[in-house]
Amino acid sequence: MVEILTADLFEKVKAGLPAEASISEIRFEGSEIVVYTKSREFFTGDSSQVRELVGQLKKRIHLRPDPSITEDIETAEKRIREIIPAEADIRDITFQPEFGIVNIEAIKPGLVIGKGGETLREIKGSTFWSPVVRRAPAIKSDVVRTLRELIYKEADFRRVWLDKVGKRIHSGWKPTEWATLTALGAFREVGRSCLLIRTPESKVLLDCGVKPGSNEYPYLSLPEADITKLDAVVLSHSHLDHAGMIPFLYEMGCDAPLYCTMPTRDLLVLMCMDYIEIANREGRPAPYTTKGIKEAVKRCITLDWDQVTDITPDMRLTLLNDGHILGGSLIHLNIGDGLTNLLYTADLKFDRTALFDPASTMFSRAETIITESTYGLPTDIQPRRWEAETALVDIVKKTVARGGFCLIPSFAVERSQDVQVILARAKLDVPVWLDGMVWDVSAINTAYPEFLGHEVQRDVMKGWNPFTLPMFKHIGGQEERKKVLEAGEPAVIISTSGMLTGGPAIWWLRQLAENKKNSLVFVGYQAEGTMGRKIAKGWKEVPMEENGRTRGLPINLEVATVDGLSGHSDYKQLLNFISRAHSRPQRIIVNHGEASKCIEFARNASRIFKVDSFAPELLETIRLL
Ligand code: ZN
Repeated sequence: MVEILTADLFEKVKAGLPAEASISEIRFEGSEIVVYTKSREFFTGDSSQVRELVGQLKKRIHLRPDPSITEDIETAEKRIREIIPAEADIRDITFQPEFGIVNIEAIKPGLVIGKGGETLREIKGSTFWSPVVRRAPAIKSDVVRTLRELIYKEADFRRVWLDKVGKRIHSGWKPTEWATLTALGAFREVGRSCLLIRTPESKVLLDCGVKPGSNEYPYLSLPEADITKLDAVVLSHSHLDHAGMIPFLYEMGCDAPLYCTMPTRDLLVLMCMDYIEIANREGRPAPYTTKGIKEAVKRCITLDWDQVTDITPDMRLTLLNDGHILGGSLIHLNIGDGLTNLLYTADLKFDRTALFDPASTMFSRAETIITESTYGLPTDIQPRRWEAETALVDIVKKTVARGGFCLIPSFAVERSQDVQVILARAKLDVPVWLDGMVWDVSAINTAYPEFLGHEVQRDVMKGWNPFTLPMFKHIGGQEERKKVLEAGEPAVIISTSGMLTGGPAIWWLRQLAENKKNSLVFVGYQAEGTMGRKIAKGWKEVPMEENGRTRGLPINLEVATVDGLSGHSDYKQLLNFISRAHSRPQRIIVNHGEASKCIEFARNASRIFKVDSFAPELLETIRLL
């Protein structure tokens, strides 16, 4: 069955192209078709016939050079460097003969592409390689470099594997008589987000997270959740409560493609490396090793927002902006050729923030919406954004004026960059030191401006990149930390962890807590039982471990909490989002909130929208079709 359908599709491709196209091979790359040609003329021609074929077959088709027509690598690289203007600032050129591709990384990718693509056409016409242009991070990032190298190195594996994935996707399908959702994690709780979507044909996992500070993982031991039989894994965003168990799947033999955006992939690696390191340090080893991370990256298929892709014979996936963190996505699934559609919000921000546009409502129908409910109670209303931003800037100014340090403990992803942009826009004349993982995350932000909000993108285009301003400085280790402290110059320090449960923020707290001139500003949620919560509640002394002994640390510095910078929607924003959906859903499923919030939000949603709305319990299976 599989072979016939695939052969049929390839036959149509062949028939749609002229004999002089001289096709040497047709393969799949995931859901897309790749055609290799032995004709330099056809390869560099106007490709109208390929476009026509795309229209007919409704499949993406890429034209690539057969190895016999590509210029040798040395000559090709020399020509590319001659063609591209120096201002583009090329950082790397890597050839992938397995795909006929040359990857060109530059600080200004627009100059590599040229007006209307003319520079690219020139590269193609004089080297006969397929150029792929990527933006080099404006701040050097080892993570981005290592990752891109790994993917180039795995070209042999990926060529074979992507073809296999494509054959599975195009293998013809049984009628979609039913579709179900099984709650494997984050139902009536926050943490270990994981959902299984099944039809007679397909098994797809959405997210696979950890529950920070606990040993509870998603219910992957359920027979129907068999890791080795999944068709696809879709990841909304890189926060550990959604992504922390992804490497586990791949270390345990999952061979399914991992779909997410490119920044999500990069941040996933960073976050999970950090997770393993911290878990090991704390003496409760992570359930996987770096091998799991590598296996996941090898099987990653990155998508842009709003790009529709077949992921199984009866499911089509679209990722859309979720307004929550860099690359974070809403997940839209079209099941059974439109028989039913599902939108999973994962984490959702339906308001403009310093970094991002509000979550997209540009998805087609969604009979089922699965929504988070972190702030699901009618009393969960956040202060207005500008009020929060003003409060933050004010306290920094006050601290600097009296010659103190301002410590901002923060999560590495999103909140730190948010604070950076707010401080940058306020044009404060004060150094801001980035400690812990914050620097790497900011570097990844500079590699993907297209995933930032329009306002920041406009700034970057105008040459004002908030992340590369000289006011932001990197702390690389303990020696540098001491130097900053000894210099005594007023400064802001943004450091992990956000709840003062570990990381360099604790060291800073020990140094700064006793001096009244300094300040400590909380910009995120402080969970019960954490050091952050104690200080935010007004404790005047906290127990602090030092050299194996616990002493009382007096809290003399000014303590402030700035609410309203959350990356989650408040109650009103959640309701607004649902009411803006193109068509009214038939069913609203509520998850990702404390039990009482899930239940109450479902009750309110069903009253307000007059639809079926409920908060399933863990391990429940719900019929969607
Ligand atoms: Zn999140």
